[in-house]
Amino acid sequence: MKNKSLLIMLAIILITSFIGGSTIFSQPNEADMEKRVSSDLRTLYKPTKKTEVTEVTEVTEVTEVSLAAVGDLLIHKEVYNDAKTSSGYDFNPMFQEVSSHLSSADITFANSESIMGGAAIGVSTYPSFNTPFELGDTLKANGIDIVSMSNNHTLDRGVPAIENAINQWDFLGIEKVGSYLSPEERDTITTIEKNDITFSFLAYTYGTNGIPTPDGKPYLVNRIDKDLIASDIKRASSKSDVVVMSLHFGKEYERNPSADQKELAAFAAEQGADIILGHHPHVLQPPEWIQNTDGSQSLVFYSLGNFLSGQEEKYRRIGGIAGVTVQKVKGMEGTSIDIKEPRFKLTYVDFENDQDFKILPMKEFNADMFQELSKHMKTSIHDLLVN
Ligand SMILES: [Zn+2]
Repeated sequence: MKNKSLLIMLAIILITSFIGGSTIFSQPNEADMEKRVSSDLRTLYKPTKKTEVTEVTEVTEVTEVSLAAVGDLLIHKEVYNDAKTSSGYDFNPMFQEVSSHLSSADITFANSESIMGGAAIGVSTYPSFNTPFELGDTLKANGIDIVSMSNNHTLDRGVPAIENAINQWDFLGIEKVGSYLSPEERDTITTIEKNDITFSFLAYTYGTNGIPTPDGKPYLVNRIDKDLIASDIKRASSKSDVVVMSLHFGKEYERNPSADQKELAAFAAEQGADIILGHHPHVLQPPEWIQNTDGSQSLVFYSLGNFLSGQEEKYRRIGGIAGVTVQKVKGMEGTSIDIKEPRFKLTYVDFENDQDFKILPMKEFNADMFQELSKHMKTSIHDLLVN
């Protein structure tokens, strides 16, 4: 399915066979050879071949989709207090400097770490978060298409917060994955289609800070479970061109992926996850290509860092917008998918005295820090486009 080189080779064979007449497929007799060679040479330089080459390209259809992803939206009290207005909350000013970068992608993903249960049940901070609905308004305005709700804070405020959050994401027209209100919803694969390319989304978390899942309701939060992951990927693959998996995993504040993260990502990739979006460590971890045994490659961003939070330490203020282009080529011999041009736009959460929170593009904000983080992000993918 992902074998682009096979498709290119086929196109070359077809073109070659047109240019070379029937020499590849039939046995010419000796007497005809000289005539044929000179005729073939003429043919090579005659414009008549144009028509035949066009016939080959006409049956090939190429479409592309850009996918973007940001990490943790962790709305501590410093952040929601800063967003407070006379009538509610307004997070828009915090996103102003990065808005165009989020909106420009065809599909944009975010990790909704602090559950968005809404102010009606009382906003709250660490260790038991609850975020106002207005964050969703801002994400909608900034082009976010899908959020993961599966993380260690999913169960912080119980079922009411989950119900409110799911209903509000539905109301906003933002897709959500990883937390559901029924077994049927959990078993329904979430897909987004753009430019004739269908993406399926799956999401899992390592745990929920010791809060047990309410009895008989495992659908409330998807936990990392290899059997579940394998069967979900199988169903997702049958419904989509590209499987995107959100994984809430790794050790907090570790700037490189752990052996466990690598092992799980490789497992998911081998099962068919094409793009893995990792988060939880609250700091950036360098992305990597994973080589699968079928010859395909999967792209894993082990940790996307904090996109917006009240955490103060330098590396916990750093996040970014991951990007990748997915190309679909439909030809006579089938369809191929190419995951290409991985990229990363570095960001920094600026604030002073717990006020004036702003997500800033790092390159413009701090050139030295940009150089340092750029090098860090290119640890494994040396040609990663960092800006
Ligand atoms: Zn987390």
